[in-house]
Amino acid sequence: MTDTAILQVENIRKRFGDAEVLKGISFSLNRGETKVVVGPSGSGKSTLLRCINRLTSPDSGKVLLAEEEVKEANIDSIRSRMGFVFQDFNLFAHLTVLDNIRICQTKVKGVAHDEATQRAYHELERVGLSDRGGAYPAELSGGQQQRVSIARALAMDPVVMLFDEPTSALDPELTGEVVKVMQQLAEEGMTMVVVTHEMSFARQAADEVIFMEGGHIVEQGAPDLLFSRASNERTRAFLNVIA
Ligand code: ADP
Ligand code: MG
Repeated sequence: MTDTAILQVENIRKRFGDAEVLKGISFSLNRGETKVVVGPSGSGKSTLLRCINRLTSPDSGKVLLAEEEVKEANIDSIRSRMGFVFQDFNLFAHLTVLDNIRICQTKVKGVAHDEATQRAYHELERVGLSDRGGAYPAELSGGQQQRVSIARALAMDPVVMLFDEPTSALDPELTGEVVKVMQQLAEEGMTMVVVTHEMSFARQAADEVIFMEGGHIVEQGAPDLLFSRASNERTRAFLNVIA
C-alpha cells in the first residue's frame, strides 16, 4: 500500500450460508491504475466487486475510497463515486439512452437538467454513440448497450470504475467495440478494476493481474510475468484454457 492508493481493500471476507466465498482478500489500487481480475466461475470475483461498492456487505474487512472507509452511513456518497458496469448492462428499458445517462446525474447528484444533457452527450461521444441519444435500449446492439452503460457510469465522474465481465453477455463480434472503449479509458488514466476473460485487454491495459480461485487471491503480478511464467499451477492451467 502506498500513500497514493485511491482504493484499498483490506482482508475482505464473505460467507453465504456454509460457503465462505471470500477468504480474506486484500489489494490496493493507485490513481490511474488498471487491475484485471481473472479466475474460474464461482471463485468470488463478482462478490468481491459487490463488496467493494456495498451492493453486498462483507462480513469483515474494510474498503477505503480515497482513504475514507466505506460504511453504511456514507454508502450513497461512496457509490456515486464508483462506477459499476454489469455483465447484463442494467439499462432502464423504458428510458431513452439520453435519459438513462441523465437520470443518475439529476437524481443522485442533483445536477441540473441542461448540464446533465451536456455531460451525457460528452460521454456518448467518448464511447462513439453521440448520434444514439434518442434510441431506446432495445433498439441497440448488445455492444452499443454496454457502451451506453459505460457512458452512464462515466457521467457520474467516478473516482474508480468497476467492471464485472462487461463483454461476457455479448456475441463475440461485439466484444471488440467494448474492449476498445475500456482500453481507451485505461490509456486516459481512469482507475479501474476489471473482471474479464478478455486476455488481450489484460495484456495491453492491465498494470497488474489478480488471479482468484476459491475465494483467495492465488497469484498477482504484471501481465507479462503472469502470462509468461505463472508460478502457480492452477493459474497456468486456467490461462491455458482461456488464453
Ligand atoms: P464469480 O463471479 O467468480 O463467478 P461469484 O462471486 O458470483 O463468483 O460467486 C462465488 C460463489 O458465491 C458461488 O459459489 C456462488 O454460487 C455464491 N454466491 C454468490 N452470490 C450468492 C448469494 N447472493 N447467495 C448465495 N450464494 C451466492
Ligand atoms: Mg461473476
